[in-house]
Amino acid sequence: MKIIDILNNKRTVSFEFFPPKKTEAETVLYETIKELVDYDPDFVSVTYGAGGSTREKTVEWTKHIKKSYNLITMMHLTSVAAGQAEIDAVTAEIDAMGAENILALRGDFPADMPSEGYNPVFRYASDLVTYLRQKHGDKYCIGVAGYPEGHPESKSLDDDVINLKKKIDAGGDFIITQLFFDNTHYLRFMDRLEKHGVDVPVVAGIMPIINIAQVVKFTQMCGATVPQHLVDKMDGKTEKHQFMIGVEYAVTQCRELICNGVDGLHFYTLNKHGATEAVLDRIR
Ligand SMILES: Cc1cc2nc3c(=O)[nH]c(=O)nc-3n(C[C@H](O)[C@H](O)[C@H](O)COP(=O)(O)OP(=O)(O)OC[C@H]3O[C@@H](n4cnc5c(N)ncnc54)[C@H](O)[C@@H]3O)c2cc1C
Repeated sequence: MKIIDILNNKRTVSFEFFPPKKTEAETVLYETIKELVDYDPDFVSVTYGAGGSTREKTVEWTKHIKKSYNLITMMHLTSVAAGQAEIDAVTAEIDAMGAENILALRGDFPADMPSEGYNPVFRYASDLVTYLRQKHGDKYCIGVAGYPEGHPESKSLDDDVINLKKKIDAGGDFIITQLFFDNTHYLRFMDRLEKHGVDVPVVAGIMPIINIAQVVKFTQMCGATVPQHLVDKMDGKTEKHQFMIGVEYAVTQCRELICNGVDGLHFYTLNKHGATEAVLDRIR
């Protein structure tokens, strides 16, 4: 089933996983998926390592989730280090597992491929969306990434939305946002989308914080910010206390988004189930 058909009918809840590198981490992910399936997600997505580094594992995990739990899946697909042959090979694998959804991304430039002076076949995600639509028509539902606080490479917030519109005009069906912790960023982003005539469903990326130091470090790389009052509240607290504060914060954030008519909540699970479960237990 196509995710856009679900989004057109209801507010979705979805989970994101990444393919682990180590065997112990794989065991954790199997357990996490088993636990979270009980929360009846509308779809589940699996990330695709920068430069295609996790291609086989991404396919494997997507297949496992689809086959074992009969869930609607969406593989992420990054194009910055790929040619048409790689994209064609991946879409053949998506077809073989009977999946219909793709999150089309440019991805970050791998360290050995500088963003300057390197001419990828698909320089922007919009090039990938264009290619997928030209080659496959309406076969896939295509999601694209959006950035409430702007993508780190963008000149301005408006410029970023103008570029996001190119992905929608090329055939993107819906948007999943980068994580954000202050709903003001999301609400302003929604205003900019309206101003620029983007009217597809927007799924909000949610990450319940369970380790503030880790999240602050991580967000520095993706251009999202953690409110200072939240950092101050969590800093130096025990693991258990941080978990409680992080869950409480995410519950409030999700409730406010729901009140504002959000189209879907996409949980960046980091392959753990506890915090996502705790939030969903409170908001459902
Ligand atoms: C929901 C979500 C899931 C993600 N999943 C993954 C994943 O699985 N694997 C992974 O490696 N990364 C993932 N990322 C990170 C993402 O790959 C990076 O943020 C990457 O730097 C940009 O990818 P994009 O698809 O948004 O690129 P683009 O949409 O191509 O945008 C990249 C930059 O170029 C600008 N731009 C776009 N089009 C044009 C144009 N025509 N002219 C000039 N400038 C333009 C944009 O404003 C932006 O600054 C994810 C991000 C999100 C939000």
